[in-house]
Amino acid sequence: MKFFKRDKQKTSPKTQKDAIPKRRVWGINTETLQLILEVSKETYPNEFVATLIAKKGVIEEINLLPGTLSGNTTATIRTHMQPPDITLSVVGIVHSHPSGDFRPSGADLFFFSKFGNTHIIVGTPYDINSWQAYDSSGQPIEIKIVD
Ligand SMILES: [Zn+2]
Repeated sequence: MKFFKRDKQKTSPKTQKDAIPKRRVWGINTETLQLILEVSKETYPNEFVATLIAKKGVIEEINLLPGTLSGNTTATIRTHMQPPDITLSVVGIVHSHPSGDFRPSGADLFFFSKFGNTHIIVGTPYDINSWQAYDSSGQPIEIKIVD
C-alpha cells in the first residue's frame, strides 16, 4: 500500500491527524464485517481499500475510496479525493491481503501511523477468522463482533 501526500495547493489548515478524532473502537457490526469479506472476495486477486466508519465505538460502515488504484500487490489512496463530510467519523482503513498473510507490511505500518487509530487487514480465504485489527503502531487489537 502506498501513501501519497496531499497536493500542497489543496492543503487545508487542518492536518490529517487533526481531521480524525481519536476514538476508541471496540466493536464491528456483523453485517459490516460480512460486507468487507464479500468485497474482498469480489476484488480478489486484487487488493481493496476502504475507510472504516464508526459510531459510538462500533464500526458500522465502510466507504470504498474513489481514488483507490488496485493492482496485484498495491493499492493507492489519494486522500484528497475523500469527501470531507465522511472524514469526521472515519477511524482508519480496511484493506485486503490477497496473499492470505494479514500481518501489516512495512508500508502498512507507515500508513497506520499517519492515518486513524484502528485498522483492519483481511486475508484470503476471507472467512470470519481471516482478519485482524491493529492500532496505529501496528499492534494487534481485539475487536468484538456485534449484532
Ligand atoms: Zn497491506
